[in-house]
Amino acid sequence: MIVAPKIRGFICTTSHPEGCAKHIAEQIAVVKSRGPIANGPKKVLVIGSSTGYGLSSRIAAAFGSNAATVGVFFERPGEADRTATTGWYNTAAFENEAKAAGLYARSFNGDAYSDAVKTEVIEAIKADLGQVDCVIYSLASPRRTHPKTGEVFKSVLKPIGEVYVNKNLNTTTGVVNEVSIEPAQGDDIEQTVAVMGGEDWELWIDALQSAGVLADGVQTVSYSYIGPEVTWPIYKNGTIGRAKEDLERVQKALDVKLAPIQGKAWVSVNKALVTQASSAIPVVPLYISLLYKVMKAEGTHEDCIEQMDRLFRERLYSGNPQPDEAGRIRVDDWEMKPHVQDLVGQRWAEVNTENFAELGDFEGYQSSFLRLFGFGLAGVDYSAETNPDVKIPSIG
Ligand code: NAD
Repeated sequence: MIVAPKIRGFICTTSHPEGCAKHIAEQIAVVKSRGPIANGPKKVLVIGSSTGYGLSSRIAAAFGSNAATVGVFFERPGEADRTATTGWYNTAAFENEAKAAGLYARSFNGDAYSDAVKTEVIEAIKADLGQVDCVIYSLASPRRTHPKTGEVFKSVLKPIGEVYVNKNLNTTTGVVNEVSIEPAQGDDIEQTVAVMGGEDWELWIDALQSAGVLADGVQTVSYSYIGPEVTWPIYKNGTIGRAKEDLERVQKALDVKLAPIQGKAWVSVNKALVTQASSAIPVVPLYISLLYKVMKAEGTHEDCIEQMDRLFRERLYSGNPQPDEAGRIRVDDWEMKPHVQDLVGQRWAEVNTENFAELGDFEGYQSSFLRLFGFGLAGVDYSAETNPDVKIPSIG
């Protein structure tokens, strides 16, 4: 079939197999161009490995450090007349590249929140690798079924306490309008913490540790975001922010649990970037468009792969992780530089539909979004027939 983007609001319901493969090849090239990561990880488990930050973590570990990788994700395979979800194609391409480079790669498609997937992954680690020395936790999901009670929790993106009104971007039309979001009601906060907080990260580490598959000196990292004050009501101080606070609670608990094996848990605060998860958050796409313009102009713009390469190379395995006062790793440091934030803040105050093209990087936003689904990559013939039914080698 000939595959074109089909955009519905903030999601794209199609993805392009060759485009996704090109996207993976480009990310690998970025990592390789920086040379090997000295003393990097050797056996890495990535939970949420098919898109966004988790995918780039897997690529950075494999191609920067020759690591064997195990990936876990929730994606839909393609059929003869229907494309797979983008993370499926990403993983197929990743595994093909890993195999060509002589690297072990095995993937699991299923619900990472379930006990069954945890057990299956642990058995595979035992059989194939013995232990892992790095565990990346990079899930972003709107819901979670609790493995013990079966209760289904739903995460919401809402402010807490009062209605939040601010500028917002229609990412299809480029219109800058206003959005008004009602505050959390009932148990919205608890539900969001149950999905995006630290409980599942802790369950994973507990299960891995009690199975004896964590190597001495293991590091585990979960990803967070803080961002500028303009987004705080919907992010840092909103329901999702409560979930991110819960990650920090769990990080401290995991440090204690991992101490006997000289392990370390981290929360890494990453940069705001276009991913499937972030495009669903109100206000954030407008902020990202303004941020990209400023950071591209000063030459400090990074995408997921540059961020994750820097996390491994200059923080986790550099001997100098540079934690902040709360013990978090910061690779959002360039985003949060005062002169960057001052300029973004000024433009935030001024931006409207008329001047958005000049103040924001709408083209950059849209092309980053399309690239997530394998569209708009150089060298891919989008008018050619393509087979959507692509196999992931380790899944079949
Ligand atoms: P993403 O949507 O690109 O990736 C989410 C991953 O989780 C995918 O691999 C998906 O398959 C997997 N997943 C979702 N539900 C699953 C389930 N039930 N079982 C197994 N796998 C499942 O998201 P992302 O933006 O890369 O987010 C990853 C983490 O990074 C999140 O914690 C997010 O808050 C954080 N983060 C994101 C940004 C940003 O701007 N995008 C910034 C800082 C931190």
